[in-house]
Amino acid sequence: MAGYVGRFAPSPTGPLHAGSLVAALASWLDARAHRGQWLLRIEDVDAPRCVPGADTLILQQLADCGLTPDAPPQWQSQRGAHYQRALDALIQAGLAYPCACTRREIEAAWAARGITWPRHAEVPYPGTCRAGLQGREGRAWRLRTDFLKQIPRYPSANWSVHALFSGANEPLPPADAARIEGATVHWCDRRLGAHAQDVEATVGDFVLRRADGLWAYQLAVVVDDALQAVTHVVRGEDLADNTPRQILLQRALGVPIPRYLHTPLVRNAAGEKLSKQTHAPALDTRNPLAALDAAAAVLGLGPAPGAAGVPEALTHWTAQWAARWTAHDAARQPTAGTATQGNAE
Ligand code: GLU
Repeated sequence: MAGYVGRFAPSPTGPLHAGSLVAALASWLDARAHRGQWLLRIEDVDAPRCVPGADTLILQQLADCGLTPDAPPQWQSQRGAHYQRALDALIQAGLAYPCACTRREIEAAWAARGITWPRHAEVPYPGTCRAGLQGREGRAWRLRTDFLKQIPRYPSANWSVHALFSGANEPLPPADAARIEGATVHWCDRRLGAHAQDVEATVGDFVLRRADGLWAYQLAVVVDDALQAVTHVVRGEDLADNTPRQILLQRALGVPIPRYLHTPLVRNAAGEKLSKQTHAPALDTRNPLAALDAAAAVLGLGPAPGAAGVPEALTHWTAQWAARWTAHDAARQPTAGTATQGNAE
């Protein structure tokens, strides 16, 4: 497909494990099946969580598995100026505001409205600082998730925020797989199907820059996907619930909305998702074919043919992937209309 750009975007919080290889393999196969480009981005904005040397290890593990990017990898820690430009543009457009609230104050604001949340629940932001800081000191920056309600015909073309990105890359065709009504994002995942989330009610105005000064994942990922002209995001299903936030932010910035495909998760014997928190062992790439075979099985692909080496196995799976997802995508052509062209009337 002309113009297809995919990416794998690991956080270097440790080496790849069997679960991350599934996402890496799927995004690589999707890019190859579309005859597109596959990029690699090291998502090291959350410096305290990063492990020194993990990025090098990840690149080596991927190379061992034959998954090499088509351009030099990028490190988010070197891209702060881009995130700042995006934040400045959002502030200028009145779509981002400073917030002084601590978690305790957020819970107190809900309690004052007679609403309590379970102890470990993600508490939506009640919008306290939308009305200004009232003399308090701003700690974080948040996106106004209600901006399409406030500015029903929020312009994305010829808009200062849009100008931020124009010229950076070839223009992309608008995505046809998302639609936004007010603060509700409707989107169609290529594997998981149709979803909708009222971002304002479920998450609230979310953080773009954290109280500790670090860039939030949501802003960094959206800015980088836009600047790298990513057309197709293929990543683990644990990130699916971030997608509506990212689509809203893409709309606020006036950048194209990519297509999304979220891959199945790998669980340990206790049924927990493999992750650093659940002490997933590092992926052993001394036998890359065995590691790839296991990842391919999770993706519903058959085993590599008998005497295949890594390149032959990857070619075999690319053909399988193309046959499966081309037909599947065609059958699932969304009819949702376009999100990039404007707020639904
Ligand atoms: N860096 C994120 C992670 O490793 C993935 C981000 C993405 O693919 O959007 O969980």
